[in-house]
Amino acid sequence: MALYEYRCEHHGAFDVVRDMGTAPGSIGCPACGSRARRIFSAPMTSSTPPALAAAIDHAEKTRGEPDVVTSLPPRPRHERTAVLPLTPTLRRLPRP
Ligand SMILES: [Zn+2]
Repeated sequence: MALYEYRCEHHGAFDVVRDMGTAPGSIGCPACGSRARRIFSAPMTSSTPPALAAAIDHAEKTRGEPDVVTSLPPRPRHERTAVLPLTPTLRRLPRP
């Protein structure tokens, strides 16, 4: 028996156990029944941080149909502005 990974466009990735070499290229999603394509991933991906795995799954899921956004993303609290140190060369420059 071997573990094969499939991905539904609506429900994400899921695993299927089948005999070695018998996995078809696509099967029905257990949640919705639509065709889920077989995907190939590197072994030992469980070491991937959960937040990164979720971000990759979200990017994959919304690749063809982006999420609908209803508001702008929050602005960072502190806008960073570049402050140049006043070196002797900069001090000689004319000021506005
Ligand atoms: Zn599905």
